[in-house]
Amino acid sequence: MGKIKRIGVLTSGGDAPGMNAAIRAVVRTAIYNDLEVIGIRQGYQGLIKGFFKPLKSHSVSEIIQRGGTILKTARCEEFRTEAGRKKAHDNLKKQGINGVVVIGGDGTFRGARIFNEEYEIPFVGVPGTIDNDVFGTDSTIGYDTALNTAIQAIDKIRDTASAHNRLFFIEVMGAEAGFIAIRSGIACGAEAILIPELKDQLKSLKKQLEEGNRRKKSSNIIIVAEGDEEGGAAQIANKVKDDFKDYSVRVTVLGHIQRGGSPSAFDRVTASRMGHAAVEALLDDQKSVMVGLKNNEIVHVPFRKAVKTHKEVNWELLKLVNILSI
Ligand code: ATP
Repeated sequence: MGKIKRIGVLTSGGDAPGMNAAIRAVVRTAIYNDLEVIGIRQGYQGLIKGFFKPLKSHSVSEIIQRGGTILKTARCEEFRTEAGRKKAHDNLKKQGINGVVVIGGDGTFRGARIFNEEYEIPFVGVPGTIDNDVFGTDSTIGYDTALNTAIQAIDKIRDTASAHNRLFFIEVMGAEAGFIAIRSGIACGAEAILIPELKDQLKSLKKQLEEGNRRKKSSNIIIVAEGDEEGGAAQIANKVKDDFKDYSVRVTVLGHIQRGGSPSAFDRVTASRMGHAAVEALLDDQKSVMVGLKNNEIVHVPFRKAVKTHKEVNWELLKLVNILSI
């Protein structure tokens, strides 16, 4: 493989606050190392359709504080096919791109891994997803911001919940993982948390609520991850409301407000470090790896490991919710 001279960068999967900070770090680190950078719009779709645009230092001015992604993102079925990946490869060759930084979640890395089994052009990943469900990194870009957004909203709901003796079921994002639910629950003093990783939580929830009722708790906040087994906050509220007539039951789905907004300081710094590390990894001839953060140090994790290993939630934190809500 020849020396890297021109790299591509794309964002893929769900958008996450801090992706722009990562793009900025990729572009500026590349320029610092005398590389050219091509922005690929709309993730793998843009790779296949040829949505390429050179990025200069000024192209990424004043984006570090902005949510979303200036490169736009997309889901792309065609990249799952051999023919689609061949088109992507042909386009990269045509553009003279000899390394690509992909910013996204585990699906994005699955695609990148298969591509790197088929083709030489190295792909390096930066974990960007609010869900934090990527193995090999303590934190993904966007998670901290989403968490802070959720916390601010839940605090406001707590005010009205205690004013009216209400039982609130608040649904947070996390279709397959309870990371946002657990941390936001701890941070807001939730009475209980329901996450997709656990089964049969309804019985223990009812017991907890009965106990709270006996102690005349004035409000109850139950955090429900959207992917919980009952199918979300509204379904659970329906199943318990008849048993707790002393409370008026309410449901709030926080939804997409958790995805947007200006990234937190932590996400901006993490994104800057990871974007920089991804370009350095390409310069070091690495391929098929994701950069991650472990104990506040940059690490390199093979895509194979990142996509095949399940990232466990912190069970100690879940226990803590029960202890601290008595
Ligand atoms: P998020 O966690 O925010 O959803 P993600 O990166 O996991 O982000 P996905 O939609 O799962 O989001 O994946 C992004 C894209 O990666 C897909 O639209 C598809 O183009 C590609 N991809 C995912 N899985 C594969 C696969 N097995 N083979 C080839 N490409 C894939």
